[in-house]
Amino acid sequence: MSTLESRYQEILQQIEQAAQQAKRNPDDITLVAVTKTWPVETILEAYAAGMRHFGENRAEELEEKRPTVEAKLGPDSGIVWHFIGTLQSRKTNPVADYADVFHALDRLKIANRLSKRLEENGKAQTRRLPTFLELNISGEMSKSGVNATDWENSATQRAEIRNFGKTVAALPGLTLQGLMTMAPWDADPDFIRTVFKRTRLLAEWLAEEMRLERPLALSMGMTDDYQLAIAEGATHVRVGRAIFGERHTH
Ligand SMILES: *Cc1c(COP(=O)(O)O)cnc(C)c1O
Repeated sequence: MSTLESRYQEILQQIEQAAQQAKRNPDDITLVAVTKTWPVETILEAYAAGMRHFGENRAEELEEKRPTVEAKLGPDSGIVWHFIGTLQSRKTNPVADYADVFHALDRLKIANRLSKRLEENGKAQTRRLPTFLELNISGEMSKSGVNATDWENSATQRAEIRNFGKTVAALPGLTLQGLMTMAPWDADPDFIRTVFKRTRLLAEWLAEEMRLERPLALSMGMTDDYQLAIAEGATHVRVGRAIFGERHTH
């Protein structure tokens, strides 16, 4: 087995274990292999090892890598491309064109631009882009994400999140799949777990407010904290370093 393959198998086992401990079905958890900064050869190697969900966080990389991978594997490889990074409004077109799932929607402007492009593409008719709203729960990590730092106590924050959710769900090109959050770096596990738990409770609240038929998915957990995220209900974990090793920084 290659290093990549054995690391992948190990993570699948960890996911299964974390799911069992939480009395959850491991099949409800999607491992998104974060290939940002890694070349196409690495993606092909990961594909050969069995990975099918790939995550990129820069529009330029997605736009470059997806067609290259498809030229090798064909359009029916079964790969699902996840865009996980915060998006600037001038980079929305490549994401509308090349992403199958979008994890980090934090502004209405971005939602409108994506939806418009998908309509123009004619893609909106066949399949709306599954989208996660990015929530800033801890207030520590970064400025990205809709402010939900005090959602339990703040009617203003709840109203903003509810309106955002409803507006996104009503757009012709997008479908609201769930909520995404990032835990703070270097925090202790109890604090991180609280961030994930508060995100889950927010998702439950929002689904009820919006009278959704299905629960909202939860994109949370990375290399250092995906087991904690699974314990709190993550349906999508975004893991890079644990599979591919430390990234080469450009
Ligand atoms: C890079 C990145 C990840 C993966 O981080 P690792 O620590 O390498 O697992 C997950 N989510 C987002 C949004 C990222 O940018």
